[in-house]
Amino acid sequence: MKPTLPQNDPNKQQRSDYLNRQQQAYQFDYQYLSPLALLKGVPASENFSSTYLAERIVATSELPANMLAANVRSFLDPLDNLQDYEDFFTVLPLPQVAKIYQTDRSFAEQRLSGANPMVLRLLDQSDPRGEILAKLPNVQPSFDIRKQLQDKNIYIADYTGTDKHYRGPSKVQGGTYEKGRKYLPKPRAFFMWRWTGIRDRGEMAPIAIQLDPKPGSHLYTPFDPPLDWLFAKLCVQVADANHHEMSSHLGRTHLVMEPIAIVTARQLANNHPLSLLLKPHFRFMLTNNDLARSRLINPGGPVDDLLGGTLAETVELAREACSTWSLDQFALPTELKNRGMDNKTQLPHYPYRDDGLLLWEAIKTFVSGYLKYFYPTDVAIAQDTELQNWAKELASETGGKVKGMPQRIETVQQLIEIVTTVIFTCGPQHSAVNYTQHEYMSFAANMPLAAYRDIPGITAQNILEVITEKDVLQLLPPYKRAADQLQILFILSAYRYDRLGYYDKSFRELYQMSFAEIFGGTPIEQLAKKFQQNLNMAEQKIDANNQKRVIPYIALKPSLVLNSISI
Ligand code: MN
Repeated sequence: MKPTLPQNDPNKQQRSDYLNRQQQAYQFDYQYLSPLALLKGVPASENFSSTYLAERIVATSELPANMLAANVRSFLDPLDNLQDYEDFFTVLPLPQVAKIYQTDRSFAEQRLSGANPMVLRLLDQSDPRGEILAKLPNVQPSFDIRKQLQDKNIYIADYTGTDKHYRGPSKVQGGTYEKGRKYLPKPRAFFMWRWTGIRDRGEMAPIAIQLDPKPGSHLYTPFDPPLDWLFAKLCVQVADANHHEMSSHLGRTHLVMEPIAIVTARQLANNHPLSLLLKPHFRFMLTNNDLARSRLINPGGPVDDLLGGTLAETVELAREACSTWSLDQFALPTELKNRGMDNKTQLPHYPYRDDGLLLWEAIKTFVSGYLKYFYPTDVAIAQDTELQNWAKELASETGGKVKGMPQRIETVQQLIEIVTTVIFTCGPQHSAVNYTQHEYMSFAANMPLAAYRDIPGITAQNILEVITEKDVLQLLPPYKRAADQLQILFILSAYRYDRLGYYDKSFRELYQMSFAEIFGGTPIEQLAKKFQQNLNMAEQKIDANNQKRVIPYIALKPSLVLNSISI
């Protein structure tokens, strides 16, 4: 197999026969999650390999012993005390977050380096939500909220569904379970970047949480009684867990990449250089997404059982997340800018950003070198009919419906941006939200997937309900749900098929040839080595960064990041 652009390929008939077969095998399904373009029936060639299956079984082998030793009660009553959530971990190590999850530091840090560092944004001075803080109890004499807003020190995590980037949850009423109702809180949490006085140093800290979006409702603060404040923080964690799974994880990695993999299979010949570049990054994703539809988001399945809404409401969150995603706005540097989280002088500590940009740059350098080799001029781009069909079908309303995708590729620079975003989303972005599930979400008291008690109400005497430990335990998942949450999130984070920038494993399975055998004698071999070196340098920088971080962030260490959405 020799990487060849269609304009240089003497075997034109062979290419077009191949593409005809592919277009029969890969067809769109617009019904399942209308209007999203998903795959109708997965071709056998996409199935998990025997190596994948064997390795994955080994990776999860400790789970049955853990659950057996945990002796989990199978009923749906609340736990007797918070400590009991630790007892679910017997053979499996207790996640570190279990020891600190109640602290404000852990709560704030999870917005910057937890399982879902995708929600927090800088609150603009002119944003009307800043007004909510005018009511903040004046507990700190020198605290001037207007000045803090002006100085760009105030941040918000808004789960009310009014944020233009995430409108879904306002409609969620909540599902039911055998013993009653489930709830999905819709809080707003406000944070402040507190400078410590030492240059470049500071810390993110929560300053207020509004649980009820009605104007004038109570603003919880760290100065409330500890259980009221803990309850408010846990409501944010429930909202964040639902946002994580449906928006950041399922929607904005698994599902938004699906049409791109489909169109790549339909429009690029097997020896097309762009197909060779992208295929390892789509490895097993279509099979994996199909399994998610039949075994995770099916009626009575884990998503239905464990998340806050009814199944229809919850699936709606993923649809909403996909329809507000676009290829251009979710290029990492642009996405960070859109949330006002890109400025290192204003916000010197944001591990997801700082580590993510190192990987973004390494990917972009490799993609640039690769594409510039195959497309030395923009003329080569214009002459590549397969590439132009690829772009056209991706953008088309009767094709992939990918937002932010141009219908025609004019320059190599334009293609570099697109491909870098695709590879970053399949690799680092998915790994960052996927493999953190165990550390942050399998311990259900940190990130409960649903609330089993409503937010505090107003009593007949017109005073706000005071929260007891019993209320906190009623909010959190009951025995069986907490055990199920641990099991499913452990399974989803236990196995890594491959490693970003290392292509041999998938190449041997896909083409029965190594990367070097296919690209031997071309500069691509050297570019790939350089890519691996750059990733190793990024790894060293991240290790050094972690020395200075109170809570290390390992999710974007290149050695732990995969090429694809293979789990
Ligand atoms: Mn995943």
